[in-house]
Amino acid sequence: MHPDAPVGTRLATGLDGRLEAVAALYRDLHAHPELAFAEHRTAALVADRLTAIGLEVTTGVGGTGVVGVLRNGAGPTVLLRADMDGLPIAEDDTVAHRSRDTGVDADGATVPVMHACGHDTHMAALVGALECLAADRAGWSGTVLAVMQPAEEVGGGSRAMLADGFLERFGPFDVALGQHVTSAPAGHLYARDGVFMAAADSLRVTVHGRGGHGSTPHATVDPVVIAAAIVLRLQTIVAREVAPADSVVVTVGSLHAGSKENIIPDRAELKINIRTFDPDVRARVLAAVDRIVRAEAAAAGAPAEPDIEPLTDFPLLVNDVDATERVRAAFESAFGVPSVHEAPRRSGSEDFGCFGDAAGVPSVFWNFGGLDPDVYAADAEHPEAAVTAGRAPGVHSPHFVPTALEPVLRRAVEAVLVAAGCWLRPAP
Ligand code: ZN
Ligand code: ZN
Repeated sequence: MHPDAPVGTRLATGLDGRLEAVAALYRDLHAHPELAFAEHRTAALVADRLTAIGLEVTTGVGGTGVVGVLRNGAGPTVLLRADMDGLPIAEDDTVAHRSRDTGVDADGATVPVMHACGHDTHMAALVGALECLAADRAGWSGTVLAVMQPAEEVGGGSRAMLADGFLERFGPFDVALGQHVTSAPAGHLYARDGVFMAAADSLRVTVHGRGGHGSTPHATVDPVVIAAAIVLRLQTIVAREVAPADSVVVTVGSLHAGSKENIIPDRAELKINIRTFDPDVRARVLAAVDRIVRAEAAAAGAPAEPDIEPLTDFPLLVNDVDATERVRAAFESAFGVPSVHEAPRRSGSEDFGCFGDAAGVPSVFWNFGGLDPDVYAADAEHPEAAVTAGRAPGVHSPHFVPTALEPVLRRAVEAVLVAAGCWLRPAP
């Protein structure tokens, strides 16, 4: 058994009587999701809970962020992070506590909102873990820094908290720990050291042409043709410019121009999403996109340079090797080796790593299973197969909602406590 594991394992024994309250909090959060940077009700609810538990609570950090500090004598400071925002998705009618709420998106449109990424499970699990820690102060020593982060989905929340003086106001800390639910059987945990999740960059490109009548193309510069050439030429970045051993995604997810078949428009707009796993490759791909967009516009004789505007960016999420091994060993000791798996490197992105990066301390991020084990036909090692085959919903699906709620939340709370227990000292 790992020498540090018993602290968290013992703390988790206090969970039994609290699990129903954790589930009730989860159902409340799930029924009332809010979009990025609009997590007002959510932040107030979790701030109330942290205050009731006995933490020193600060609200409004980086917009709607909430920070709670639980001081309990000498020892390391452990940052525990959960994210708070939902997504503009209409929830399927799977559970009684489904969301019927709406929000207003960045374009001012009223949209349905759902916790389709499971951030409600992250918040509920963190509150449950803090309740266990506060209830057993004799069982450990150190400081817990609980972070309820806004706006993970748009990649801005952790940086907004850092820009609001997070390190100066609440630091320093020794390690940053976070978790994310995934489409996998309840009870199972997935960890990976080194590069875990991709860097993501989103760009808006506006191509300028010269509009006119569809019958006189020679008197125009057609931005539709420029945009089409850009879309095709961008595919050569992955095919011809990136080494076969490097993984890169370049997706044009949005392409808009024109209004009518016989009008050549003035402009076209593309939205491009880029995923990379290496800073040098990222720089190279971004430079290639810039070069291709400008060159295609120049090749067509565009009257003005294209506008290339960054929309969002997520940093690479890198798990510290030693710290991750420590957590993985503690998980195996607490939950058994068959419940702990190597996570695949994911092309999804996450801004959790900003906290550890900014403080210069190790980050450890892991996934926990969020759905009924039956869905995965007992293949806990490769749950992605069930998602690819369409048997299980992935996160961001309108069907992604834990149905085996109690086992999901139990393991999520236990995982936080066991991981934190790798740093919190046993009580003297
Ligand atoms: Zn998400
Ligand atoms: Zn998420």
